[in-house]
Amino acid sequence: MRIGVLAVQGAFIEHRHILEKLDVESLELRQLSDLNEEMDGIIIPGGESTVMGKLLNDLGMMEPLKAKIESGFPVFGTCAGMILLAKDIVNPTEKQVNLGTMDISVRRNAYGRQLGSFHAVTEFAGMQEIPMTFIRAPYIEETAPDVEVLAQVDGHVIAARQDNQLVTAFHPELTEDTRIHEYFLKYIANKQ
Ligand code: GLN
Repeated sequence: MRIGVLAVQGAFIEHRHILEKLDVESLELRQLSDLNEEMDGIIIPGGESTVMGKLLNDLGMMEPLKAKIESGFPVFGTCAGMILLAKDIVNPTEKQVNLGTMDISVRRNAYGRQLGSFHAVTEFAGMQEIPMTFIRAPYIEETAPDVEVLAQVDGHVIAARQDNQLVTAFHPELTEDTRIHEYFLKYIANKQ
């Protein structure tokens, strides 16, 4: 298995480290031609969604990546990656551009200044005690009927899946726990 990690901005190295820990090969997606590489899934990391969106546009990667995801290619977005995948952003910045492939509505920086960063430990898709790190995190306000809710914290949806698209508002790449990445990899393996 080989996973492409979008590496135009944000916390992509941390995702590669987790994949390395799991003995899974990864590559960095930095330019349009990288999208033609042989791979089985793509991770869109956390960072700053407005900056990442702008870079995807400037690099000509936005439309090809969107088409790839819409054709069913497995993708996992964390934090800003989740915002990029959302079809609707309740409070976009002025310059926000998006892949907009997943039927969810998200709120950016949903926890305000006081709770910019925090940790939680809760259940995720039936797995117990998953440690979760939130950094200026979004949450999901609305989901389409075919979107499966995977985890909630304080009554807010913070992880979900729709077919080939998996999103978490938290950063699983910043903990020692590899189970969320394994969940994504298992989905890919079962599909093949
Ligand atoms: N608040 C950031 C955004 O709007 C996301 C933060 C993160 O990815 N840790 O893109």
